[in-house]
Amino acid sequence: MHLVGIDFEDWYLDVEQTGEPRAARAAFARQVDRIVDILNDTGTLGTFFLLGRTAERYPEIVRLVADAGHELASHGYGHQRIPELTAETFRADVARSIEVIEGIGGKRPVGYRAPYFSFTGEPWFYPALAEMGFLYSSSVLPARGVHSGLPDHPLRPRRIGDTSLLEIPIAVAEVAGQRLPAAGGGFWRILPWPMISWAARGTSPDRPFAGYLHPHEFDDRPLRSQRGVRRDAFVNVGRTSIPQKFRRMCQTHGGTRFIDYVKSVGS
Ligand SMILES: [Zn+2]
Repeated sequence: MHLVGIDFEDWYLDVEQTGEPRAARAAFARQVDRIVDILNDTGTLGTFFLLGRTAERYPEIVRLVADAGHELASHGYGHQRIPELTAETFRADVARSIEVIEGIGGKRPVGYRAPYFSFTGEPWFYPALAEMGFLYSSSVLPARGVHSGLPDHPLRPRRIGDTSLLEIPIAVAEVAGQRLPAAGGGFWRILPWPMISWAARGTSPDRPFAGYLHPHEFDDRPLRSQRGVRRDAFVNVGRTSIPQKFRRMCQTHGGTRFIDYVKSVGS
């Protein structure tokens, strides 16, 4: 079972914070168009985790996504890592994103994803999300990642305490006892399609394949980071294979919105 997760953030203006605004806007529009087209072609609905400040910049693109039937969830507002926040600044960041999403889409989001999967066990994290009315979070990479990851976290979704909140960790592949990230992003750039498909086949409703991809990975033009050639090489190597892998994923394994999965397992 493939849960389609798109982290809706403008790579040039909100993540790398570089580039000329007009070109960046054009790039973002064509990237999201490509994702929506693939979902439409394959009859798949997905969840878009909206970064508040990106959504605020592109209300018309958010509406296009919502009108196609996709779920609007929250990726926070400012894209700061969780350990850099306090309980108060975290709440303020998420509340601001809720306001933006509700203002554009007309509905309060019930799903949240932490920037960079950077949740590291902060005790205020889940209580704050539960209090703000979220039904699920997909904020944990249950493996050792480049900059984040909780390698001892369960691989299956888990209920948080006595709340109605479900944590849905992103997908990993288990190879020779090792957990390898397999859910998207940089891993999809380098992993061959058969490996990704194999990882998705091993999952079930008990342990869905929760994915994450970003609009910039769908650009048909090379990305420029202005942080040097090594960074440019990192973000561009294998990247053009992503749209085709995503299409095959939706064709082969289907795909669903996170909220539909959450409803199917009961709250
Ligand atoms: Zn992000």
